[in-house]
Amino acid sequence: MLRTHTTKEASMLDGESVRVCGWVHDIRVLGRIAFLVLRDRYGFAQLTLIRSLLGKDKFKEYTKITRESVICATGKVQKTEQAKLGFEILPEIIEVLNPADAPLPLGVSDMVTADMETRIENRFLDLRKPEVMAVFKVRSALLQGIREVLVANGFLEVHTPKIVATATEGGTELFPLKYFEKDAYLNQSPQLYKQILMAAGFDRVFEIAPAFRAEEHNTTRHLNEFISIDAELSFANDEDAMSILEKSIVGGIKRVIDKESEALEQLNVKLSIPELPFRRVTYDEALNLVNKHISMEWGEDFSTEALKVLGEEIGGFYFITRWPLDIKPFYVLPDEDGYSFAFDLMYRDKELSSGAQRNHRYESLVEIMRSKGLNPENFNFYLRAFKYGMPPHAGWGLGLERLVMIVTGVKNIRECVIFPRDRTRLVP
Ligand code: ATP
Ligand code: MG
Repeated sequence: MLRTHTTKEASMLDGESVRVCGWVHDIRVLGRIAFLVLRDRYGFAQLTLIRSLLGKDKFKEYTKITRESVICATGKVQKTEQAKLGFEILPEIIEVLNPADAPLPLGVSDMVTADMETRIENRFLDLRKPEVMAVFKVRSALLQGIREVLVANGFLEVHTPKIVATATEGGTELFPLKYFEKDAYLNQSPQLYKQILMAAGFDRVFEIAPAFRAEEHNTTRHLNEFISIDAELSFANDEDAMSILEKSIVGGIKRVIDKESEALEQLNVKLSIPELPFRRVTYDEALNLVNKHISMEWGEDFSTEALKVLGEEIGGFYFITRWPLDIKPFYVLPDEDGYSFAFDLMYRDKELSSGAQRNHRYESLVEIMRSKGLNPENFNFYLRAFKYGMPPHAGWGLGLERLVMIVTGVKNIRECVIFPRDRTRLVP
């Protein structure tokens, strides 16, 4: 067996012999004794090297191992007050499985924070930093918690095509590609397909998959490839959709608190379970709040400054409901007087999710498409599903990385993706 225990498992023993494997995080030589800190995903172990026990040659060899080399150490675990970790391993043998070159292009144990570009260029090293890896532990638990809530509520997990012939939102922000002799695009959202599944009688579906947006602007909250968590449910209205969305988020956060308390500590965040239900604020109420500080007309979307005001005035998680129809996509259900059944889920000034009760009536859908300058002919595959029995339905799309940002407190969305795709980055 290459490894008998992880560092965490070893930390719970006293007197047993173990073989632990990992990376050389740090090595300090103090004359006849040396401390080698070994790191794996689960934590650290201090290997205490004593010259008189190891012999001169081994001591010399082991203290020369370069930082970040991959090693396995065999030895006895012992509890000790002296070690910061509360235990140490007295190795008899250390094997270098793969030596690391020096100097390192990016220090792993250093406190110095490199700029984002250097970090991404050397992502495999950057990710070795426990506080960087912690983001992905949180992300995994969050996703798992959300999935559990959806499954427990009767949602079927589905996958829809990412190579498509038409734009979901009808316009720009599309990555074109060649599909043999046809033109195709990378899908911006599974919106149209998940709605078709409502016509298919799937009743409740969710999808967790990449979405692609050719956003030209480089911001700290936009990526060109992100993970969209989408849900759609039949015989349901906007309130039903909001209710499952807020439950999913709470389920995700609960799981993070349950399973990843150490990661949260490494990230220096105190996470608490948000209270349900989240506050619902209508677009008109939000507009009034904004107008106390800056001027904004009815029918406009909230600007960055306006969202800052809302973030300050409302705070935490909240929904903005009853949006003007004109600033929402064609598929949302219209209400009277130019309103709609669309909603956005916000956290302070950040949009996390957009959703709505959908327009399930063919004639009205076609009319709204035309009024938005879209050609219904191009959406035939979608519109057909509305002619032969489409139930009323509602749903939402939630950006996973936006939620990870909020839960981990990181300021740049790139930190929430292992290999981010932005305006200039395609490698690694
Ligand atoms: P924004 O106004 O913040 O650009 P949007 O309204 O264009 O977002 P939607 O089409 O409503 O986005 O997509 C649903 C959700 O997907 C958003 O609320 C957000 O969480 C996420 N999302 C959308 N675009 C991006 C992106 N470029 N990068 C990361 N997440 C995104
Ligand atoms: Mg939106």
